[in-house]
Amino acid sequence: MATILSFSNQKGGVGKTTSCVNLAASLALKGKRVLVVDFDPQSNASSALGVFDKREKRSVYDVLCDRMEMSEAIRHSEIAGLDFVPSSSDLAGAELELSQIVIGRERVLEEKLRSAAEGYDFAFIDCPPSLGLLTVNALTASDGVVVPIQCEFFALEGLSQMMNTVKLVKKHLNAALEVYGVILTMYDGRSKLCKGVLEEILKVFGDKVYDAKIPRNIRLAEAPSYGKPVALYDKKCAGAVAYDALAKEFLARL
Ligand code: ATP
Ligand code: MG
Repeated sequence: MATILSFSNQKGGVGKTTSCVNLAASLALKGKRVLVVDFDPQSNASSALGVFDKREKRSVYDVLCDRMEMSEAIRHSEIAGLDFVPSSSDLAGAELELSQIVIGRERVLEEKLRSAAEGYDFAFIDCPPSLGLLTVNALTASDGVVVPIQCEFFALEGLSQMMNTVKLVKKHLNAALEVYGVILTMYDGRSKLCKGVLEEILKVFGDKVYDAKIPRNIRLAEAPSYGKPVALYDKKCAGAVAYDALAKEFLARL
């Protein structure tokens, strides 16, 4: 059975999508079967995997609306073993639509995803930067949450709110939910500030923090505009090497 992980942090632009897509790609290149579910109306993970149409008609939104099975919305990426379900801008309205479901509104994704994820080693859900019903659906469907954190002054601000949401989902909806791992993104080992923030993060998350840190690397920011994970765009760049190291550590910790 697939291990289902949500990539979540309510803070915007911290590297959720970049980490979700590139860790998935690196794992697939090591022979794992990985499904990425783009669960953010911004559709950045879809673009990063080659689907640029924000009005996509075979998207996770259509699956939530019961218009099709999750399995029908799955696409193959350029990397063997890496599949994905694209998002669409319509997903922005799903938050409101889900809120009108009287019973089970937090479990809509879980029901759709569990069977579709069979046959994969991992399913990664790329969450939006908010703690609304979409994120609650993702956390309810997951075995764990991976938290990408950008090493900057405000890194930990708001994180307690998110940890509280994780705690509430664990208590009421998904007893198995845990913080699975913490990825440090845009890390600069020469910066005093980065090191200080790292110490704070280690105090909170301990050995959940991966040793492999992701440096700031322009190639990581360029790759999505070509619809490719960085490993296909420039496999020797520092960003690609870092996500490859992270994938190794991720597998070694299983
Ligand atoms: P959102 O909250 O909007 O979904 P996010 O947390 O998913 O954002 P990303 O989209 O992964 O964050 O990254 C934000 C921006 O920073 C993007 O333009 C991305 O290309 C860039 N970026 C992410 N990681 C790195 C990195 N290690 N080095 C350089 N640029 C990066
Ligand atoms: Mg994102």
